[in-house]
Amino acid sequence: MNTYARSELSFERGEGAWLYATDGRRFLDFACGIAVTALGHCHPHLVTALEKQAHKIWHSSNLYRVPGQEKLAERLVAASFAGATGGQVFFGNSGVEAIECGLKLVRKYHDDFGDPARYRVIACEGSFHGRTLAGLAAAGNEKYLKGYAPYVEGFDHVPYGNLNELRARIGAETAAILVEPVQGEGGMRAGSIEYLKGLRAVCDEFGLLLFFDEVQCGMGRTGKLFAHEWAGITPDIVATAKGIGGGFPLGACLATGKVAAAFGPGSHGTTFGGNPLAMAVGNAVLDVILAPGFLPDVVNKGERLARGVAQLVDKHQDVFVDFRGRGLMLGLKCVGSNTEMVERLRRCGLLTVGAGDNVVRLLPPLIVTDSEIDQALDMLDRAATEAKSNA
Ligand SMILES: *Cc1c(COP(=O)(O)O)cnc(C)c1O
Repeated sequence: MNTYARSELSFERGEGAWLYATDGRRFLDFACGIAVTALGHCHPHLVTALEKQAHKIWHSSNLYRVPGQEKLAERLVAASFAGATGGQVFFGNSGVEAIECGLKLVRKYHDDFGDPARYRVIACEGSFHGRTLAGLAAAGNEKYLKGYAPYVEGFDHVPYGNLNELRARIGAETAAILVEPVQGEGGMRAGSIEYLKGLRAVCDEFGLLLFFDEVQCGMGRTGKLFAHEWAGITPDIVATAKGIGGGFPLGACLATGKVAAAFGPGSHGTTFGGNPLAMAVGNAVLDVILAPGFLPDVVNKGERLARGVAQLVDKHQDVFVDFRGRGLMLGLKCVGSNTEMVERLRRCGLLTVGAGDNVVRLLPPLIVTDSEIDQALDMLDRAATEAKSNA
């Protein structure tokens, strides 16, 4: 169905940070299928894992134990906030399924603890939580909601980064706060450390669950496995997806032991979620991301990119307003149309993706090299120079 305004481009092959189009052109991929191919294209370790699994078993069912699923869950829990709390994981096939799982868990948790009147979730303006009816209602973006009334009930919205307005919105029916530690679609805004810490404090004060949407900013994108780790806080629920499968459809909802205990056999389910193929790839992705030195390297790469981008903003003040983000998740706010800038960059050989607030997103693979970062900066420089001469 005609749900995307597609470019004419199509690709036949990818290798690392590069994509090869069917028309013979080569592109540096700083979009990564919107933060999905986190380890670049056709990473040898991922290809091997998928091939090996393909010869063993593709699908059994969640009616049986799935060894790869137990292994990935244990590793995700051990490496995250969930570890210290006896946490658990539910696997789905996408970001929005991880969000839906978390939203159901929020309601079930309060219901279990004898407080079924608590069902409302406070979320932020400018957020994105996926395209199901509940995901759309959670984000509250009028542009995406339009035409889909009646909306799923139970969501309130406050400005991102503002703890006072958040506190003022809390009522007797409030159950949880849902926030992206770094807003992706909304314009690559990174929540400050104080803000993230403040969210935890507010949740503790009012007995609310803290639910982070790390579908885009999780899995190493900011240089920590999860972006909230920069604030040193423990959330109650985290949804992640995109990078976790390196391009294979996979999403996960993590929760602390206490919260996850609200789910028992029958309370939630999925046919495909946690299937052996996805689990093999997810485990292979973790092998790479959790290898010693990998995440510190992402931090270094992010700093190199940020330094270069800061210089470009300085040099081309009539083209770029500012830049924001964290790690390898940066946004360049444009003076002119961001859509035109994305097209201009594409003509220069660089793939990027637009975001809200007139931002161009830079989402390179986490395995990007210094030289590739420098090449991308050159292409950005060229595109900005061109934009000026055409203005
Ligand atoms: C992409 C995204 C989603 C939705 O993920 P899908 O896999 O498209 O369902 C949810 N939240 C955030 C923050 C995202 O970036």
